[in-house]
Amino acid sequence: MQKIAPKTPAELEIMRRAGRVVSKLLKFLESKVVPGVTTKKLDEKAEEFIRAQGATPAFKGYYGFPASICVSVNEEVVHGIPGKRALAEGDIVGVDVGAVLEGFYSDAARTFGVGRIDVSSQHLINTTREALYKGIDQAVEGHFLGDISWAVQEHAEKNGFSVVRDYVGHGIGRSLHEEPQIPNFGKPLTGPRLVAGMAIAIEPMLNVGVYDVKTLSDGWTVVTKDGKRSAHFEQTIFVGKEKPEVVTE
Ligand code: MG
Repeated sequence: MQKIAPKTPAELEIMRRAGRVVSKLLKFLESKVVPGVTTKKLDEKAEEFIRAQGATPAFKGYYGFPASICVSVNEEVVHGIPGKRALAEGDIVGVDVGAVLEGFYSDAARTFGVGRIDVSSQHLINTTREALYKGIDQAVEGHFLGDISWAVQEHAEKNGFSVVRDYVGHGIGRSLHEEPQIPNFGKPLTGPRLVAGMAIAIEPMLNVGVYDVKTLSDGWTVVTKDGKRSAHFEQTIFVGKEKPEVVTE
């Protein structure tokens, strides 16, 4: 049985502030996601924004990752490296960002449409966000970790999408990735019991086609095996006694 320590009230307070850094940044970046902008430009703006808040980008240098945000376009699932690519009307772009403030991490992701996007892409984005919140709703003391996993999977599959298996959510705190792992698929009433004050990042990745993924030769970018589109949403949250608290909204 995994042991997952809840955070102290003082730790949670720092994490709330770390969470506000990334939620404000994602709101800011949403307005910058327009046709013609390069993913590198988004990264530069993100790093500047995080540092201006007195925080440090969590991803830069993490296992050698070269940027402050992951930018994953269309069939890219996660861990896309910002670069010269210019976003085009109709693309969908997942932006994942983490920040460290006073030794504590926050982590969040959104998928944005670039200009006008097709109906199926919009459905994918909406369903991924909804699936995340179905999972978040389960993050209440006394529930099981598997309740979160199941809620995400059920909503995704009911809507005809598949759930990526190879990448999962995680505990978060003094490290970006702590125990436990939080799969986006599983069975209710399984896994560890949730206790108020646990800090976790829930992050469903939903695919239009098969759930299989592969990593490109850059060593980072994860894409769908069938080349169909994928979306990703993530929030850092605290398990609550009555209801969860989302700290990156
Ligand atoms: Mg994460």
